[in-house]
Amino acid sequence: MNKLGIFMNFWEKDWDADHAKYIKKAADIGYDVLEFQAQPLLEMSDEKLKSLKALADEVGIELTYSLGLDPAYDVSSPDENVRLGGVDYLKRIVTQIGKMDGKLLSGVSYAGWGTPPYILNDKRPLLENSLKSMRSIIKTAEDCGVTYCVEAVNRFEGCLINTAQEALDYAAEVDSKNIGVLLDTYHMNIEENSIGDAIRLVGDKLTSFHTGENNRTAPGKGHLDWDEIFKALSEISYKNRIVCEPFVMMGGEVGRDIHVFRDLIDNPSEERIDEEAKYILEFEKSMMKKWNM
Ligand code: MN
Repeated sequence: MNKLGIFMNFWEKDWDADHAKYIKKAADIGYDVLEFQAQPLLEMSDEKLKSLKALADEVGIELTYSLGLDPAYDVSSPDENVRLGGVDYLKRIVTQIGKMDGKLLSGVSYAGWGTPPYILNDKRPLLENSLKSMRSIIKTAEDCGVTYCVEAVNRFEGCLINTAQEALDYAAEVDSKNIGVLLDTYHMNIEENSIGDAIRLVGDKLTSFHTGENNRTAPGKGHLDWDEIFKALSEISYKNRIVCEPFVMMGGEVGRDIHVFRDLIDNPSEERIDEEAKYILEFEKSMMKKWNM
């Protein structure tokens, strides 16, 4: 059965938080995976990394990582100093993940998170810069046993990889067993003509999968067609992780960066979000059962 996961910032308004608390909470609710932003790993001592990994092992949680790359480290930048600084920064993050025996990094990790503030008539030069950077970063990922997943995101969060096809093309150009593709239902809803076709297009190259509604609430609460989504996952015999990535609270760094300008559930207390996380797990399990996954 596919491993099911949840993103830590469902509960927290800032990117860094008490990781140990959420490792235990995810396990208590019944999840297999906890995903969180990778950048805080850079601030952690080796002892801290080791203790979080030991706790995760003890409660049976796999840790996976995601990031929205600060434009100061944009590895697609035409400014060679920025680009090389970004390569070094991402190699350091991948190395920290490797120290925790982590297997997966995803997100907008191949260019700065956001879109260029200038007219862009041709993105190929930025793409070439990103690919040049990635061919270097991927060697560190190979050494550390980390799969570096490129996530196709909507046009308001990035310009290089908006569609499943663009993610596949990018991965093919990097050409490493450690490059992967991640699709996210929230982003696909904006960019793809058909979410089912996008999943089938990526097929056995699909390394990880993010779920979230059209407005990033819990799956089943918005207008996405979850039968279409799980049917397509079943058709490609998808066996990898399914990580839910809902964002429902206004405020903090997360509200700012994800553009959440109202609470998307009533009274989002910790208890209320716990209940919602339990509901998501049951909903996804029921869809997997329905579509013979
Ligand atoms: Mn995502």
